[in-house]
Amino acid sequence: MKYFLVHRGDDISRQLAEQFHTLAAEHGTPLCEEAPDIVLSIGGDGTLLHAFHKYKEQLETIAFVGIHTGRLGFFADWKPDELGVLAQLIFQTRTPEELSVVHYPVVEIELTTEAGIETHLALNEFTLKGIEETLVAQLDINDEKFEMFRGDGICISSPSGSTAYNKSLGGAIVHPSLAAIQIAEIASINNRVYRTLGSPIILPKHHHCDIYPREHQHMLLSIDHQYIQRSDVKSIRCRVAADLKVKFARFRPFPFWNRVREAFIGYDIK
Ligand code: NAP
Repeated sequence: MKYFLVHRGDDISRQLAEQFHTLAAEHGTPLCEEAPDIVLSIGGDGTLLHAFHKYKEQLETIAFVGIHTGRLGFFADWKPDELGVLAQLIFQTRTPEELSVVHYPVVEIELTTEAGIETHLALNEFTLKGIEETLVAQLDINDEKFEMFRGDGICISSPSGSTAYNKSLGGAIVHPSLAAIQIAEIASINNRVYRTLGSPIILPKHHHCDIYPREHQHMLLSIDHQYIQRSDVKSIRCRVAADLKVKFARFRPFPFWNRVREAFIGYDIK
């Protein structure tokens, strides 16, 4: 098993990374940046998002696993004092096929611009927002006009991203075994003149939505932690990525709802 490691860059994460590299060298487990079988993320969810984007072209062959060092760590199953245990479990695994993995759906975003078509993947979500003015965009579902959106923006999340920005927008938390995307509004304008549905919508994997912003509208687009400003976007199609999922290595069970409870409610229920 070849591994690569990304860390957040703070002292604790760096020390843990050094410890892991030492253990791996002692064991003879090779470090391989180009084509690892497993990628260890030490930090927070932001660190795992970076790891995902570094390896988004190799999702079929790479499994991710995370150690969280102090922040929320929704994606990360392991605590810093468990590094030795996790290392042994990784080293004991001889081939990638022996790994126990879960597959989570991701969002595919197809941007049609004046220059052509670009395809992106998001682990958490894609958002678009107006810059210096209200976002005005027509939203279609399965090629039928659905609504004319006016407001701050639109967020389209994956099930594993449903606990991130989507949750702050009042979206539902969706179990990642459901291949779906969720559309959540960011401060839509709703009055006698302008109307949107006002509730989050969940689309199954065989559905898609298209967003048609007003021509040359200056917008801020985000794909997970990455932000870009664009004014050349003609339309945006979002759907569940058909053939690609992200793989997380699971060396022990950690049910999704336990993860949600620990992240948002805490350990002690009174
Ligand atoms: P950040 O602003 O430094 O951190 C955002 C927070 O979201 C962190 O606490 C992070 O956990 C947590 N988080 C990320 N993915 C999550 C997930 N799938 N489930 C639950 N919590 C999650 O930004 P960042 O670290 O670069 O992360 C980018 C993400 O921030 C975006 O994908 C978006 O979801 C989120 N965001 C949220 C809001 C909002 O809620 N209003 C606004 C903008 C962006 P860690 O502390 O473990 O890193």
